[in-house]
Formats: sequence, C-alpha cells, structure tokens
Amino acid sequence: MSIKNQISIINNEIKDKADLIAVSKTRSVEQIIEAYNQGQKKFGENRVHEIVEKYNNLPKDIEWHMIGHLQKNKVKHISKFISLIHSLDRLSLAKEIDKNARKENRSIDCLIQIKISNDESKYGLNPEQLDSFYTDLKQFENINTIGLMAMATFTKDQSLIADEFKKMEKLFKEMKTIDSKFKILSIGMSDDYQLAINNGSNMIRVGSKIFGQRNY
Ligand SMILES: *Cc1c(COP(=O)(O)O)cnc(C)c1O
Repeated sequence: MSIKNQISIINNEIKDKADLIAVSKTRSVEQIIEAYNQGQKKFGENRVHEIVEKYNNLPKDIEWHMIGHLQKNKVKHISKFISLIHSLDRLSLAKEIDKNARKENRSIDCLIQIKISNDESKYGLNPEQLDSFYTDLKQFENINTIGLMAMATFTKDQSLIADEFKKMEKLFKEMKTIDSKFKILSIGMSDDYQLAINNGSNMIRVGSKIFGQRNY
C-alpha cells in the first residue's frame, strides 16, 4: 500500500472526528512529501534534531508537532516554529518553553502528558498530579495549555487499552468543565486509533500504518 492510499483510507475512516497527525520520525523528506501531496499537513516527530532538519527542508505550511520526550536545553531549537508540544510533563520544562516562547514573541500550544500505562519507560504526570500541575501552569503567560496526551500500554490486550483510554476521556472531560481552552485529547496510534476515537480522542498520532513498519 502506498503512503497516499493509506492516508486516504485513514481519513475516510476517521471522517472529521479526529485530526490526523502523521508520525514521520525516521522517515525521509521524500516520504513526507508523498504524504504532503495527498493533503497531509500535520506531522509529528520525537527528536529535536530531526524535526528541525525537516522543518528546514520541507514546505513552510506544514504544522510540526513535538510528540516525544523533550529536554529543556533543546526547547530553543523548536520554539520559533513548533505548532503543538504534546509532551509537557514537568514544571521545569514549562518554564523553559515559556521563556523561549516569550523570546519569539508568541505563545506555544501544549498538551499535558499523562502517564496511564504500566510501562516503566513511559513519561508523563500521574493523573493525581494533574490538578496542581494545571494550577502551577497558570503562571506561564506564553504557554497555552489546550488539552491532554497519553500513550497506552504497549500490549495486544485491547481491553486494557480501552480502560486506559476511558480514564483519559474522564480526565479530559473534567478539565474541559474547568477550562474551556481544553479542546484536544491526543490518544491513539496505528493499532488503536479507532478505539481511541470511540473514547473521545480527537487527535490521533499515526506512523507505521501510513509509512510502513519502522526498523526500531
Ligand atoms: C512513534 C509514536 C507514535 C506512532 O506510532 P505508530 O505505532 O507507528 O503509529 C505515536 N505517538 C508517539 C508519542 C510516538 O512516539
């Protein structure tokens, strides 16, 4: 299946229920252009040097999303152009994003990353920490917090993933009632985006289903 075909298949499936972020980490500029020519304008990356290089070499109407763990000392490289940071998970990072956004005379849209999985390696806040983190974020005038992001446990057990997504939907709805700026729930990847949409996701991050298997 070609990249073009995969994109139109996914768009047909999700209709206008969710925004499709094409996860282009490890993919070439040529592969991204093929997706772009099919109308795909939003791409997600998890490494700063890679997102910067692609930003420099690809059309400027692409929206770049940072979806991976972000180190503070690298924020300055993306603060000029990043559309959405999905991985805001600690105050020290918020401070750095705020500072760099102010230098660029802009505000940067961010999602708070929540840890819902059992996987040891996953980043994110524990759900119990969300309230106080949200309150602390209010001091940062150049950060615009507009939703939540999470990664499900890496498992074939669909019922476990569904439980995790349901928890996220509940948290998201709670946040929406206290802050009308909360509008994005970024959950769902290649193998579970339909399940995610059924549980309130309106932004999905899809890589291998579009571009083929990655080598890692
Ligand atoms: C790689 C990645 C994805 C996409 O994964 P696929 O299984 O290839 O769709 C989504 N979200 C994050 C945070 C990722 O790092």
